[in-house]
Amino acid sequence: MAYQTVSPYTGELLKEYPTATDEEVKKAVDVAHEAFLEWRETPYAQRAQVLQKAADLLRERRTEYASIITKEMGKVIGEAEAEVDICIAMFEDYVRNGEKYLATRTLPSDKYGKDSVQLLFQPLGVLFMVEPWNFPYYQIVRVAAPQLFAGNTLILKHASIVPESAATFVEIFREAGLPEGCFQNLYLSHDQSEIVLADPRVRGVALTGSEVAGAAIAQLAGKYIKKSTLELGGADAFIVLEDADLDKTVAWAVTGRHWNAGQVCCSSKRMIVVDAVYDEFMEKYREGVKQLKAGDPMDRETTLAPLSSAAAKRDLAKQLEEAIAEGAKAEEAGIELPEHGNFFQPTILTEIPAGARCRYTEFFGPVSQIYRVKDEEEAITLANDSPYGLGGSVFTEDLERGKQVAARLDTGMVYLNHPTAVAADIPFGGVKNSGYGHELIDLGIHEFVNIKVVANSPIDGEF
Ligand code: NAP
Repeated sequence: MAYQTVSPYTGELLKEYPTATDEEVKKAVDVAHEAFLEWRETPYAQRAQVLQKAADLLRERRTEYASIITKEMGKVIGEAEAEVDICIAMFEDYVRNGEKYLATRTLPSDKYGKDSVQLLFQPLGVLFMVEPWNFPYYQIVRVAAPQLFAGNTLILKHASIVPESAATFVEIFREAGLPEGCFQNLYLSHDQSEIVLADPRVRGVALTGSEVAGAAIAQLAGKYIKKSTLELGGADAFIVLEDADLDKTVAWAVTGRHWNAGQVCCSSKRMIVVDAVYDEFMEKYREGVKQLKAGDPMDRETTLAPLSSAAAKRDLAKQLEEAIAEGAKAEEAGIELPEHGNFFQPTILTEIPAGARCRYTEFFGPVSQIYRVKDEEEAITLANDSPYGLGGSVFTEDLERGKQVAARLDTGMVYLNHPTAVAADIPFGGVKNSGYGHELIDLGIHEFVNIKVVANSPIDGEF
């Protein structure tokens, strides 16, 4: 497997990167462990200073950094800048609150008395992180910001199509004053993950990606008894009830399905619309999708980006063919696409037969699945009929009703009147095949710390 930067817009091979040797991988673990022994002793204020400096660098060179991800994986420049912004916000959340998230807790104990038990939050050691290309910076920072603050050190294996984004972050941390070895990027083959995870000094792994990759890494984590978190795919339901504000709902549906060219784990992939407003929703949604403008992702007028790679385009086309063969009705938006690049014609799938395989798969691109249901009850049943459980949305003017529907959805997150979103101070995570564990705020930092119990038990107390 080659690490390469290939422009999704022009198809041009821009740069190739050599894969790490096994010796380099082993050496990186040595270095990460040595760095950990010192980093864990640094005061919180010093760690916060490094994270703040990383945030400052991102702020100073926002568009310069954003254009690297646009060049490598094709997202439109405005979205790339917004990704830089959320990275800044994540760093700053841990700068402001990291110490509070890790503050020692004192517990009352019936056995030993008030204030007799303490919970300490201590770093574990070297962590491995395996990340996908769809948010090349955000995926790094949502693990690196909390875990560096906690005192752990990191080895990154990024997706093979975003090697420059990975290298950019090494440079950012270096400039921010992070000691050598605390954050290393390796261009690893899949098999070399085992060298990392087999090492007893490596204490955990965080993976974001597909179910296949998640299962492979979780299997290794199980084999070597390492803590793991998995943030995997999703097929978020976007439920539209009859009392929704339809114009605004449709605008969110178009954005929720097509930002990042539809390549988002928590995209609104399944619109579930009650019968009373289905026809009107469909008419407006078709119109909305037709307004998308495909083109150069560096052009600020562009709203539909190319897919990240030629392989992604091929895979999506195959999935769509299979859905049609299973009896789904496909309707192309018919927007004008550039002749080069990995652009994919936005397509709406309706009348998807019960039991069709495509109901249960994730379309990672601009393909919308739209379902007509009788009422709210049927909408909830259909939303939960999915192997995934990442996010979801409920559109209604009645907030109490929205909350009741949200409580019945079998997912890790539900947003009312908004597609599932990402923010630095809102935790992120799914259930079912969407994975396990949380990222961000205290929940994220606690995934990879030793929550140590220290009990002050009197020597002459009862056993
Ligand atoms: P992917 O193929 O699973 O790749 C993700 C990462 O895993 C890449 O670094 C990849 O490396 C690596 N990888 C794949 N198989 C591996 C193996 N057997 N051993 C070790 N590493 C392995 O995922 P993708 O197609 O690039 O990304 C899209 C998927 O990620 C979608 O399903 C999406 O929903 C999910 N995602 C989830 C979240 C979330 O927070 N829940 C966020 C974003 C994306 P290579 O590139 O070298 O193959």
